[in-house]
Amino acid sequence: MAGPVRTIALLGATGSIGGSTLDVVARHPDRFRVGALSAHSRVEELLSLCARFRPEAAVVTDPAAWPALREGLRALGLATRALAGQEGLQEVAADPSNDTVVAAIVGAAGVASTLAAARAGKRLLLANKESVVLAGELLVQAVREGDATLLPVDSEHNAIFQCLPADGSRQGVRRLLLTASGGPFRGRRREQLADISPDQACAHPNWSMGRKISVDSATLMNKGLEVIEARHLFGLPPEAIEVVVHPQSVIHSLVDYVDGSVLAQLGNPDMRTALAHGLAWPERIESGVAPLDLAALARFDFERPDHEAFPCLGLAYRALAAGRGATAVLNAANEVAVSAFLQGRLAFLGIPDLIQASLDVLPGGLTDSLDELLALDAQARRVAESLIDRGRR
Ligand code: NAD
Ligand code: MG
Repeated sequence: MAGPVRTIALLGATGSIGGSTLDVVARHPDRFRVGALSAHSRVEELLSLCARFRPEAAVVTDPAAWPALREGLRALGLATRALAGQEGLQEVAADPSNDTVVAAIVGAAGVASTLAAARAGKRLLLANKESVVLAGELLVQAVREGDATLLPVDSEHNAIFQCLPADGSRQGVRRLLLTASGGPFRGRRREQLADISPDQACAHPNWSMGRKISVDSATLMNKGLEVIEARHLFGLPPEAIEVVVHPQSVIHSLVDYVDGSVLAQLGNPDMRTALAHGLAWPERIESGVAPLDLAALARFDFERPDHEAFPCLGLAYRALAAGRGATAVLNAANEVAVSAFLQGRLAFLGIPDLIQASLDVLPGGLTDSLDELLALDAQARRVAESLIDRGRR
């Protein structure tokens, strides 16, 4: 018999993680109900999800999209409430009628709602890694104070969660080994990366994902963000968090113990496994992911990351060591750089250069409260934008 019915607020419902979450949820109508769905501005997609899942509330974070959402819900004859903006997100994240929040918004735009869910003591399935990079300390504190249950669904962190001691301790843990696919340009030298187009960067060999994280995977910044994420989620020092390139993306990450045991979690590269794990934990449910066929895979490969061709990983380690808000600056500069690259305003190799230059201008700042962090984030975005402008003149 299934456990209690859980009611889910899915923040970022129209994205790649949002779609995978709803795929798993729809397989288990006896276990899950959808309480709230959010999108930034894609009202038509949000409305068709509302028609299918009939949530209590729907949120568009772009306020200009709200009238169309309200009218569309009315036209569909749904009783779903139409909410808007960050306030709407925070309302559904903290709403007592939702016990589970899936944080699947991309970028720092997800930070306030992620924190609201943690403070409200939710079961929090965390995909929105940028919120951890920006506000890791605040998040860990909010989870503790709100008595929330944080379940990482980034595949590497979900794998590590599954391989750590079940009692929540770190007893005997020597190192965390994060696996990286290496992205679409693995094996290329720096000079071979000069003319990369957005579509080339978004064509990931193993995973189908949103465009921002796809570019992050191509620069290896995704792995840099994940090192910072692991530091906060698992509380181990940066020197105990290593990255190994594993092109098949079947070993999702590993935990190395002092007795020489190395535990790994494996599976086909499909986010529904991590999402099903987080949704049902500590139980296990069907996710729709095909069983792993090891003989068909035939082999696993491993190599060290190439820091010269892909400097973003090293930048992330350095920002983590610098502390005092440096990771917030790193994240903001990266978001600006990726968006400028996707718009054709910045070359692929300009991404790490811009992040480094932004950190040179603004090495960090006050980060004791969310307001201070958001001010630092905004300042770093201005610095990065002005560096792009200067580079184009
Ligand atoms: P996506 O671009 O496919 O979807 C992003 C979602 O966020 C959409 O629903 C969009 O409406 C919403 N959104 C975008 N901008 C917003 C804003 N300013 N305010 C509020 N909402 C906004 O992204 P994705 O690939 O699903 O990734 C979502 C998050 O999960 C990212 O943090 C990513 O790093 C992380 N993640 C994704 C994957 C994956 O396989 N896609 C794997 C691991 C972690
Ligand atoms: Mg990941």
